[in-house]
Amino acid sequence: MDYRKNIYSLSLNELNDFREAVNLLKANGTYDTFIERHHHAMMHATPMSGEPNNANIRNAAHRGPAFSPWHRQELREFELALQSVKPGVTLPYWDWAQDAALPDPTAAPLWTDAYIGGDGAGPNNLVPDGPFKDWVARIETSTGALVPRSTPGIVRMLGRDPLGFPTLPNAAEVTDSLAEGVYDSAPWRTTSTPSFRNRLEGWLRRPAEPPEPRMHNRVHTWVGGDMQPGTSPNDPVFFLHHCNIDRIWAQWQAANPGLPYVPASGGPPGHNATDPMLYLEVAGVTPNSTLDHHAMGYTYDTEPPIVPQIRLEALAWAWIIIIGGLMVTPGGIECIRCGRAVTRVLGVVSMALGVLGLVSQTRAGRAGVTQRFTPQQIDVKGDMHS
Ligand code: ZN
Ligand code: ZN
Repeated sequence: MDYRKNIYSLSLNELNDFREAVNLLKANGTYDTFIERHHHAMMHATPMSGEPNNANIRNAAHRGPAFSPWHRQELREFELALQSVKPGVTLPYWDWAQDAALPDPTAAPLWTDAYIGGDGAGPNNLVPDGPFKDWVARIETSTGALVPRSTPGIVRMLGRDPLGFPTLPNAAEVTDSLAEGVYDSAPWRTTSTPSFRNRLEGWLRRPAEPPEPRMHNRVHTWVGGDMQPGTSPNDPVFFLHHCNIDRIWAQWQAANPGLPYVPASGGPPGHNATDPMLYLEVAGVTPNSTLDHHAMGYTYDTEPPIVPQIRLEALAWAWIIIIGGLMVTPGGIECIRCGRAVTRVLGVVSMALGVLGLVSQTRAGRAGVTQRFTPQQIDVKGDMHS
């Protein structure tokens, strides 16, 4: 099971491995295929009968129910690509609501040479440092083709893009989104309400809220520059951002186990539960096949531990305590030579071990620690911030 962490919880080794793997994918051309697929998905309109053929109403990956499943699959494909060049690497997430609480979110550690490079600088607002500084972006021409940009570098304008938005969504907005009581609703687009998907994506607002981008959309526009158009994976922060969006969806799913993905059928093409989704690396993946992210092979550090596993371990420890107890009872086996109760000593040790195991088990359960399922990922103490 791959274990996805907050990027600020990565050890120095883990962070460097992640940055190196991303750079290896850029160098071998794989990375650019993710930019292209995302761009094409965004350009591909998915109208229902009677709707105009317009990608701004709904497309293969946005403004409709498949928004969450499409990006979940895209992220998993990216994570597996990272692992193909650097075994063991997992995708970290950027909890932007955490940074929104800072006096100046643009001064967060993420935007430094040590993480993914800083805010754009100079006349072209190019990222001045970090591991992706010299990347060549792929941009759309007037004919709709994607070509390498003549000037190398990633364009970033944190909170100051004239076409963007100056603040990040905060924790209260995330909590509010999680309260939504259905996954999605007709007409399966930006006007859908009630709709967890529409609120997560950032089109749906409460009546009193001003007409501004929210949640997922707001983060794209806050980062600005290359994060704005359909080629937004040009900036690797795209994957950190969407990993956090995926984590929030997983939280909503866990809190609402009885609420299904909708529509099952009768909705827009590519958005029904069993429709194949377009422009993904793996053909034939449907929204249904992405609903259980544990089955896809990963979990988040903010998730509670997997319950059946916990109970099994607790049972094992309880058994050791019982055996220990039996061994210290009077009339246990005695040493043939000295007549001492050997089993009594063994029993006390066994009971002590059992109690220790049970206590640490319970603690781990409360703290949501899942590292024991992936021991190779236990933090090696090298956090960059703090
Ligand atoms: Zn997208
Ligand atoms: Zn996005």
